[in-house]
Amino acid sequence: MRLAFLVVAVTLLLVQVVLAAEDYYKSLGLDRSASEKDIKKAYRTLSKKYHPDKNPGNEAAEQKFVEIAEAYDVLSTPTTRKIYDQYGHDGIEQHRQGGSAGGATHDPFDIFSRFFGGGGHFGHAAGHRRGPDMELRVGLPLRDFYRGREVVFGVEKQQICDTCEGSGSADGEVHRCERCGGHGMVIQKHMLAPGMFQQVQMACDACGGKGQRIVKPCPVCSGQKVVRREVETTATVEPGMDRGTRLVFENEADESPDWIAGDLVLILEEKPAELSDASRPDDQRTDGTFFRRRGRDLFWKEALSLREAWMGEWTRNVTHLDGHVVQLGRPRGSVVQPLAVETVKGEGMPFWSAADLHEGVDEDESPGDLYVEYTVILPDEMESGMEKEFFALWEKWRKKNGVDLGRDSGRPVGDVPVHDAKDEL
Ligand SMILES: [Zn+2]
Ligand SMILES: [Zn+2]
Repeated sequence: MRLAFLVVAVTLLLVQVVLAAEDYYKSLGLDRSASEKDIKKAYRTLSKKYHPDKNPGNEAAEQKFVEIAEAYDVLSTPTTRKIYDQYGHDGIEQHRQGGSAGGATHDPFDIFSRFFGGGGHFGHAAGHRRGPDMELRVGLPLRDFYRGREVVFGVEKQQICDTCEGSGSADGEVHRCERCGGHGMVIQKHMLAPGMFQQVQMACDACGGKGQRIVKPCPVCSGQKVVRREVETTATVEPGMDRGTRLVFENEADESPDWIAGDLVLILEEKPAELSDASRPDDQRTDGTFFRRRGRDLFWKEALSLREAWMGEWTRNVTHLDGHVVQLGRPRGSVVQPLAVETVKGEGMPFWSAADLHEGVDEDESPGDLYVEYTVILPDEMESGMEKEFFALWEKWRKKNGVDLGRDSGRPVGDVPVHDAKDEL
């Protein structure tokens, strides 16, 4: 008997789940603990991704766009979010029927335009006025271009006032200006001479040419409809991105009810790494200060002593930009000429491409290479005993086993004075 009851209960639960619309939190990819900021961030990203302007003819995307707008509409207002958390979709339904049905609109395009400004569409569409773009520069060390990272930056920009939703009015009421009848313009008659009038069109002085009059201005924006505020934005620097890469945040420049916001563009610049940063934790201390980048490849200079260059048997551990170690070395008997360049395959920058820009292009997706240039450091001074021994050693061997400098340096034989092929060591 108890079991049967349980089965019925579970079945009822399942039915409820199936019938219910998509959970608002899920629509935005969030859970119930999401902050106000999380909700905005999710809406900002998703609404642009699924906007019909971006997905022409795609009904699934349109459906999703509507769903996201509805979820944002409910969850971004503390009152409705509370109702939703307690009573779910039914609660919201009742709340809407009960009270402010005539108030705020739930049109997904209106919600979009309230968020981004403008007419609910992307600024590239014809016939819409578009605000100016904004450009920002950020300097990052090469290490960040290699590893990739999130960059959080603040931008002070003009935003549509949240409190009055861009109406400028405290009570949401905007009256048509009586003097100009909402046209913003008035016709004035000037008398030029008795009986002769000139008609001049002028901006209405009662409403300042806006055609509207607000009786109770919004206390937050003082009726200006917009406020200046610092907005925190997060940019993702992907491993291998080029310096000078422009990260575009569509419609995130200054907002205004009169236009569609332009784009906010973040330009990534490479700044020199700090040489002596002892405060940095160990895992972040790399030899990266000395790497140079050209395109996908990295360059590194390694110094060898005379003994190492000539006799071999040495190793070096180069700490790469992400902390992994690249080992260089030669066995005994392996000579490294000064200025010789060694190529270490695949140890350059990771492959990156502005994916959708190059779609269809068959690109080589391998990482770049690391070029190691060797310099040889000769000893400046020697102890006198040491000098004597070395000198004697040279004397002993120089006649027996030497190099032909002319030939070995690659110069044509005719250009160098003829001398003993075994003169020098
Ligand atoms: Zn007026
Ligand atoms: Zn306001």
